[in-house]
Amino acid sequence: SDHDLTYPASPAAMDWSQHYPAFATTTPSSIPTHDPRTTPPDPNNEIQVPQISQQVQIADIGCGFGGLLFALAPKMPSTLILGLEIRTSVTEFVQEKAKALRLQHASSGLYRNVSCIRANTMKFLPNFFVKGQLSKIFLCFPDPHFKARKHKARIVSGTLNSEYAFVLAAGGRVYTITDVEDLHLWIAKHFEGHASFERVGEEELEGDECVETMRRETEEGKKVERNGGRKFVVVFRRLEDPPCP
Ligand code: SAM
Repeated sequence: SDHDLTYPASPAAMDWSQHYPAFATTTPSSIPTHDPRTTPPDPNNEIQVPQISQQVQIADIGCGFGGLLFALAPKMPSTLILGLEIRTSVTEFVQEKAKALRLQHASSGLYRNVSCIRANTMKFLPNFFVKGQLSKIFLCFPDPHFKARKHKARIVSGTLNSEYAFVLAAGGRVYTITDVEDLHLWIAKHFEGHASFERVGEEELEGDECVETMRRETEEGKKVERNGGRKFVVVFRRLEDPPCP
């Protein structure tokens, strides 16, 4: 159940310094606790939120045990990478592993840029990220929810794709991989049918190391490899919004 999950009221209210302490700055930001459109500014109605020096740019949605996160983190040490996972124990595992790797690599500073939060990404994604904040979203081996009446639980849909479009910067990418052909076709149909996305061509993907990392380093990707299964990869680009008429 996800009833005990808590979400920040807005991205500004999120304390990222707990997740990326090496990137913490010394000056907190004052956030009004009341709606500033209806309540005049008042220091008594403000909370202090610790700040970090840059924003999260990469999100792995349904990250599981974090294979992709820990493979990407040392490749791009100055980019903040976040896993989002609904299962409590799995989230804690990823958080603990990040801490252990940071200690182990203290001299090089690797893995300071990776963390995980517990969240149901079908709800409240825009509470964590502002418009256009992310450069990459990964959807790796999402649960297939085979039966038609369960399709609404899939993490790709017209509505959810609009949320991905909201938090992605123009030119940003959604990386998807699955071993379930029916889900692959569903993913392709829902992104290709969405006005904010276009499919990235095969030639362009050849030089993209994220694709290879996603194929090789996710736990599910390894399992599929062992079982000799197929992996369907599709990547979509976030298009510029058309100018307002
Ligand atoms: N991405 C990992 C990989 O490729 O190895 C894990 C894939 S696993 C099949 C799907 C993961 O998504 C599970 O860990 C599950 O708990 C998580 N998940 C499913 N629905 C979710 C949701 N709404 N929000 C966040 N995580 C979710």
